[in-house]
Amino acid sequence: MSDASNLQNRIRRGRFAPTPSGLLHIGNAFAALAAWLQIRQAGGEFLLRIEDIDKPRSRPAFADQQQDDLLWLGLDWDEGPRVGGPHTHYEQSKREELYEAALDQLRLAGKLYPCYCSRAELASIASAPHGLSSEGAAYPGFCSQLTEEEQAAKAIAKEPAIRFRMPGAPISFMDAFAGKQTYDGDALGDFVVKRADGMFSYQLAVVVDDAAMGITDVVRGADLLDSTPRQLALYAALDLRPPAFAHVPLLGDAGGERLSKRNKSLTLAALREEGVRPERLIGLIGYVAGWLEAPEAASAAELIPRFAPLRTGHEPLPIGDDLLRWLRQ
Ligand code: GLU
Repeated sequence: MSDASNLQNRIRRGRFAPTPSGLLHIGNAFAALAAWLQIRQAGGEFLLRIEDIDKPRSRPAFADQQQDDLLWLGLDWDEGPRVGGPHTHYEQSKREELYEAALDQLRLAGKLYPCYCSRAELASIASAPHGLSSEGAAYPGFCSQLTEEEQAAKAIAKEPAIRFRMPGAPISFMDAFAGKQTYDGDALGDFVVKRADGMFSYQLAVVVDDAAMGITDVVRGADLLDSTPRQLALYAALDLRPPAFAHVPLLGDAGGERLSKRNKSLTLAALREEGVRPERLIGLIGYVAGWLEAPEAASAAELIPRFAPLRTGHEPLPIGDDLLRWLRQ
């Protein structure tokens, strides 16, 4: 069978991969709904993965609540926690052997180097998936050219973090919603794949897991846009086939402030507690996304035939107070 027909016959597989360090908010619901609708419309398989690699920040109670929230919205999953599946562990904290093996492969290919920079030196350039801008945050490469002797001398005093060497060439990809995106690999900088304390980074774990779980379509929030070129560089270095990527815009209030900042009142748990009906939340998101012509109560399943790739770009989408009032009616 040729590669092209293989691709055509491939079952589409999507996922939602929340980090259980807090409650899901309305913006997460948007990403989860878009990912779910795309796969359900395509007749594919949807899975849930718990990204609890940052153990100190993750809480089983949040993971549990997030799953309840998704089910409340009418979003189910074919594989993952509570339902199981062939990948056995759908929690990243239980998949570390796979990350270590990927690290070995990268090391053999000469793509990694130890970094001895201190926290203070790196204050603004941690390898967190969120809150990084490609401007000004790139690792300046202090440790990238150390000789073996220099490394050995530094290793006496401290355990290094492990960095991945980003290729210098531009990295482009088609965002399935917003079109072609191009990044300068140099400007993104070499990023941490394993921290000095032994924790694997989000960037490495997400690539290893999406590839191992056969994910064909990644739909997620635009806050992770900058992560995509980094992840594409990892796919290439690991000789893995990358999925298609699509990013949903963040939701903002009328003044442009991110709605997730008003976190307390706009978590799914709080809305539910207030008595908001899931059909209202789905209807609000469906309207903002352009799948509904007007805000109207709808179930997630009712939106399956209405789903269309977003053409909104990556700018935050405003949700005015009038819509938030409608939500609560
Ligand atoms: N775990 C990440 C988050 O909660 C999302 C990962 C992804 O979708 O690639 O933001």
